[in-house]
Amino acid sequence: MKNGVVVINTGSSSLKFAVFATGDAAPEPTLLFKGRIEGIGSDPAFEVKGADGATIAERTEWPRGSTLTHVCAIRHVLEYLDKNAERIRIMAAGHRVVHGGLVYSGPVRVSEEVLAALETFVPLAPLHQPHNLAAIKAIHDLYPALPQVACFDTAFHSGQARVAKLFALPRDLTEQAAIRRYGFHGLSYEYIAMRLPDFAPGARRAVVAHLGSGASMCAIRDGKSLDSTMGFTAVDGLPMGTRTGALDPGVILHLMQEYRYDAEAIETLLYKESGLLGVSGISNDMRDLAGSDDPNAAEAIDLFIYHITKNLGALVAASGGIDALVFTAGIGENDRGLRARVCEDASWLGIRLDTAANATNGPRISTLDSPVSAWVIPTDEERMIALHTVRLMGDRPLTPFC
Ligand code: ADP
Repeated sequence: MKNGVVVINTGSSSLKFAVFATGDAAPEPTLLFKGRIEGIGSDPAFEVKGADGATIAERTEWPRGSTLTHVCAIRHVLEYLDKNAERIRIMAAGHRVVHGGLVYSGPVRVSEEVLAALETFVPLAPLHQPHNLAAIKAIHDLYPALPQVACFDTAFHSGQARVAKLFALPRDLTEQAAIRRYGFHGLSYEYIAMRLPDFAPGARRAVVAHLGSGASMCAIRDGKSLDSTMGFTAVDGLPMGTRTGALDPGVILHLMQEYRYDAEAIETLLYKESGLLGVSGISNDMRDLAGSDDPNAAEAIDLFIYHITKNLGALVAASGGIDALVFTAGIGENDRGLRARVCEDASWLGIRLDTAANATNGPRISTLDSPVSAWVIPTDEERMIALHTVRLMGDRPLTPFC
């Protein structure tokens, strides 16, 4: 019987989970399997893959008209673990929680007080935080003795200089209403910061481009976040699959005053109808756009690359130069054409692309004589959460749930 931790990552319409073995036999958490439920609230689909990526369980058939809620999804995952992880003793659950507010600058064991504090951050991340907390509550209801750990997307950025966090707003909005730049994708950046020395020893200053369906960039110095493109919410910065990225706030005023947009219509526009999907009119998936000969698809890709290049310049300036540029997440890890264009546009910075290495996804995609190196490093937010969970629980005696 092995000890293990389960990692839960709830999104607005999906739930990802992973089980890692921990303990003496595995000083570092070892992935056993991972899975996801897609289509929460619409047509659900469940899939589990082993550590080698092979599918080990699938379910696409659900009773007619099923709409899975987040709580049902978490129950489904726990039932699966109960039946299928009989040789694993689950000792703790680690959760991705989007917002730690001004209070949490690192992972925390969840208690009633912590949960109450996390509830107060719901208005700061209304699209994500309620789902994250629903998963914690669902597990608590079923297994009250199981320790749970919350790991925050904002925490990695909490040490940024105050000037990087401030908006030029009146002071009471900054202090009382906590309206400031928080930054997101922190678990991904923390994982990359941890791994970077293995790839690029001596690279003290880096810009990491996390390019997935959500996309952001972060300047990292000596393993710490200096600045990032996401701010108060995860809609700031780069254009994304369906999100606008940075938008002149005057546009929102104009839409409200001249086109009668209300808060709900603006939210839908900013989060769901814009970005690659809005500009192309075709898809939010980079693969569809790259395979299309529609000029609007090409323009959406151009716009995405232009903003990566422009934000790279800003982050390089914020960190006073860089030693390494890192690409990660779905697009960053797989789209060699996009990486080549970003690196070519960044030749002013001293990046010389190694075309052959880029074609095979690196990991080093710059030539050996490139003054600034460029890398592809796959991110692993689930592993980061597992590590935090194990570290935080330490050797304390735990009550396993199965
Ligand atoms: P998330 O975890 O935020 O859902 P991912 O990091 O998994 O996002 O990235 C998903 C995106 O990655 C997809 O929407 C797609 O655009 C992109 N992607 C995945 N594979 C490729 C590929 N081979 N080439 C280009 N883009 C890809």
